[in-house]
Amino acid sequence: MKYRKILLPVLLAGFLFASCGEGKPVSRTGFQLDTVVTVTVYEPEQEPLLHDCMKLCEEYERKFSRTLPESEISRLNSGELADEAGYAALSEETVELLSEGRHYSELSDGAFDLTIGAVTPLWNFTSEPHEVPDAAAVEAAVSRVGWEKTEISGQKFLLPSGMAIDCGAIAKGYIADRIKDYLKAEGVERALINLGGNVLCIGSRSAQRPFRVGVRRPFGGADDSVLTLEITDQSVVTSGIYERCFTKNGEFYHHILDPSTGFPTQSDLSAVTVISDTSVQGDALSTACMVLGLEKGMALIDSLPDVDAIFIERDGTLHFSADFSVKYELVPEKNSSEAGL
Ligand code: AMP
Ligand code: MG
Repeated sequence: MKYRKILLPVLLAGFLFASCGEGKPVSRTGFQLDTVVTVTVYEPEQEPLLHDCMKLCEEYERKFSRTLPESEISRLNSGELADEAGYAALSEETVELLSEGRHYSELSDGAFDLTIGAVTPLWNFTSEPHEVPDAAAVEAAVSRVGWEKTEISGQKFLLPSGMAIDCGAIAKGYIADRIKDYLKAEGVERALINLGGNVLCIGSRSAQRPFRVGVRRPFGGADDSVLTLEITDQSVVTSGIYERCFTKNGEFYHHILDPSTGFPTQSDLSAVTVISDTSVQGDALSTACMVLGLEKGMALIDSLPDVDAIFIERDGTLHFSADFSVKYELVPEKNSSEAGL
């Protein structure tokens, strides 16, 4: 069980296949942001930058964590940063993250809601024992969810008393983008940033080869993917019901919550993978689409320029967004005879 916490995000969130090519990869892996983080560069002299990338993760976690009591988000949620009018002065990065959160909350019509933090502490998807929270407590918490009641004014954020922010569905994407900015500013032209399966590429694997990024088969084994994507300079983020979940009294519960009920979304999907230029966009949209379901989620993706997505229904059916522009290769499902059973 001890290893589950470390292995789960790696196994569950999609994985990479680095194809052979030029430049010997140099990687650093750490347990950060409650998940496994790996950054890979392709020039040996760039290795010292990897240490800085891990430091960046640490710094952002100290700002954005909902569970570290001293983080800026925790202090915003507790109300201790609020002035008399209720506005909290925050760092530039936190305001930027919250502004992204508000944007995607609005764009998804509240399917993604950055104020889901009133509800998330009632659930525990990460460790035993798993308990289903009391329905009345969930209902009471849902009445304190509603991104429209928040406001940004300059460097200040208004969070009405009793409400709480949870950036869990966008923070990794935002941080991956910042790491990419940092590495590019340092002259890095090829790199792979993998924050618990949120994969962001800088350039390509080599002059001839794109990066190959696997999309995990929902509920499949660690190395079981439905397809591999050829990616250059873009982000690939998957949100799935198999990532943090449990079964209790025969009922399946997972960590993507419907902000209107406070319970796991009942949509027809088991996973959504978004391919986009920025990782914050992919992170927010993949979570939002899981809540919106196939029809509305796909309509949202198709309304946006330069965003591709793959939706996987609970029965395993794959759906690609209109004009899907990313090259990919399907991976046949291992049947029982191939698996030697
Ligand atoms: P992701 O893995 O990116 O889909 O993010 C899931 C995490 O985001 C959960 O563990 C919660 O912390 C949070 N979350 C769950 N449901 C929602 C939602 N509807 N809107 C925003 N955040 C959510
Ligand atoms: Mg997300």
